[in-house]
Parts: sequence; C-alpha cells; structure tokens
Amino acid sequence: MLAPGGEVETRDAWSDLALESLRLYPDFVAELESASGILIDYRRSGAVDVAFDEGEWQSLRRRAEAQRPLGIPSICLSAADVLTRIPLFNREIAGALFYPEDAIVDPRDIMRALRTACCVRGVEIREGFRTRRIDGHGDSVEVEGECLTLHASVAVLAAGAWSSQIQVSVNGAHESRPQSFPVRGHLVGYQLEAGSLGPILRSGRTYVLQRSGGFTIAGTSSENVGFDRNLDERVIRDITARAGDLLPYLSQRSYTTAWNGFRPGIDAPAPEMRRLDGNNIWLAYGHYRNGILLAPVTANLISRQILSSSQHVGPHQN
Ligand SMILES: Cc1cc2nc3c(=O)[nH]c(=O)nc-3n(C[C@H](O)[C@H](O)[C@H](O)COP(=O)(O)OP(=O)(O)OC[C@H]3O[C@@H](n4cnc5c(N)ncnc54)[C@H](O)[C@@H]3O)c2cc1C
Repeated sequence: MLAPGGEVETRDAWSDLALESLRLYPDFVAELESASGILIDYRRSGAVDVAFDEGEWQSLRRRAEAQRPLGIPSICLSAADVLTRIPLFNREIAGALFYPEDAIVDPRDIMRALRTACCVRGVEIREGFRTRRIDGHGDSVEVEGECLTLHASVAVLAAGAWSSQIQVSVNGAHESRPQSFPVRGHLVGYQLEAGSLGPILRSGRTYVLQRSGGFTIAGTSSENVGFDRNLDERVIRDITARAGDLLPYLSQRSYTTAWNGFRPGIDAPAPEMRRLDGNNIWLAYGHYRNGILLAPVTANLISRQILSSSQHVGPHQN
C-alpha cells in the first residue's frame, strides 16, 4: 500500500516524507518502466476506511479533520456508496471514508524493474555478499565482507532491519547510531477474480487489497520475535478471521498462500537518511511500515546528497 491516508495523523518527519514520496510515485514508476521495459502494477486505487460503530466513526472523522490541513483529502461515503465502489462489501456500517490518493504497487515489480534498470546502466549487483563492517577514511570507504573487502568512494548502508548488525567506523572510531530491529508481519493471499475489489479496504489494523491480476492480500500482524522466519499458524488464523470479518466474502474462500517479512523498526523518530559526518558513508534504513512508499524520496535524497558531495570521487569504484 502507498497509503498515507491510513497511516498519517499528525505532521512530523514521517508524514512529510510519506506525502512527498506519494507525489513522486507516478514519475518514479514511469521512469522505471521506461528504463527497464518492465510493466509495474501501480494503481491509484484509493482506499475505503470503514467504521462499524459510532465510536470508530467518530475517530475516523477526527482523523480526517486532522489530515485535511496536511494535504490528505478524504470524503464521507454512505453504505450504498461503499457498495458501489466495492460490490463484494455487503456489511452494515456506521460510516466510511474514501481516500482518493492512496495507491497500490506490487513491490516485486518495482524490484525487478530496479534490478533491470540498474544492470542496463552498468551496475554490478553482488548477491550473497554479507557485509560485516564499513570503515570510512576521509574520501574512501572499505566494505568488509566475509571473504572479500571492497574499496569504494561511497557506501550506503541500507540493510533494513539488519542494519545494526553491520559495524560502522569513521577514521577507526566506532560510530554510534540508532538501532534497527525487526518487527515481523504476516500477510495472507487469496486468488480472486481480477477487478473484484477496486480500492483498498481497511478497518482498524486489518486491510484487504487486490493486485491487477486478482491476487488479493489481507494483513497484517505486528510481532516482536526477532528474526524468526517461521510462519505462525495462529497469526495466520487471526488475519484470515479478521479479513473474513471485514469482507465476509473472504470467509468463503481459502487462502492460497501466507508469508511474513521483517519491517525495519528503528530506535529513532524517523528513518536514518543522512551522511555520517566527515566521510563518505550514508545511512538509509529504519523505514519501518513504509519502506515501499518511501523508496522514491529516499532514493532522491540520498542520491542528490552523494552527487552534490564535494568529497565524491569518481564512478570507477565498487
Ligand atoms: C507484512 C508487511 C507489510 C508491509 N506493508 C507495507 C506497505 O503496505 N507499504 C510500505 O510502504 N511498506 C510496507 N512494509 C514495509 C516495507 O516492506 C519495508 O519498510 C521495506 O521493505 C524496507 O526496505 P529496506 O530496503 O530498507 O529493507 P529490506 O527490504 O529488509 O532490505 C534489506 C536488504 O539488506 C540485505 N542485508 C541484510 N544484512 C546484510 C548484510 N550484512 N550484508 C549485505 N546485505 C544485507 C537483506 O538481505 C535485504 O535484501 C511492510 C512490511 C511487512 C513485513
């Protein structure tokens, strides 16, 4: 989801980044498609937030009021309006909001297109290179892996939830920085008829969205279990129950797949996106629940800083 409507309530560093990145998305997708020749499933689908009782409805309306001055528009929908937008949704509601600017993108398409676009431009991608340590010395950087050390003019530490496992030093001194940590989340997928959902459907911490081909995703959970990749059947049952409650049609269907991932949590009020003082190491991690949304703004910010850096040397290194 590219959905500040469901996330942002007050103006802060997160909201500014999220809204800027949402604005950048159409051009980001167009540029990536053109550079890679790969079509990206990106749609400004909008999102419908439903309230099932008066208390939920009042809190949705308060949120919408707070969002308006931030530039997040929404409109009130009746039950009949919701049914028009989402014919599968046939529940009684206390009220609903439509967020026209929220969008959907398939992050796997983004990654495929990014990879191709990078390769076309001569970027060498080394998979399986596990970085242990990054050392900055003046205008050069050493990136130490398990059996190889790379020498570069610039390094960007962007290892998501794992970023704190990589040691960073500047001129031999250990650099302290905010800790990253994993916040596991499960998702559940259903194969439905293409076009049967339309906008994202949300209520509280449950949402359902559909990709163009009909693959429909219900989420999610938030678990502090470290880097444990095992699927948790209880969590999956909880998500399918909540999704079936939100959209009863789903309770008649079996999910086809379930998976989990690690949101990069951070011990700081916003993601780390900055240059370390006096050397050529940049940090770009801690995007928590919004790393897909924040991709273009992160790329812009970091690449502009690197390109305008007076210490940047040349294009020849790794
Ligand atoms: C269930 C769930 C739902 C989500 N929904 C949304 C959503 O709707 N919208 C949204 O915007 N975001 C969403 N997110 C969050 C989003 O997925 C993350 O914020 C985003 O993936 C972070 O990107 P990243 O590149 O910083 O980290 P990652 O995607 O985690 O990538 C980090 C990379 O670093 C590599 N790495 C780790 N250690 C090392 C090392 N030592 N050396 C070299 N490489 C290393 C890893 O292999 C990995 O490839 C969701 C996340 C989850 C789990």
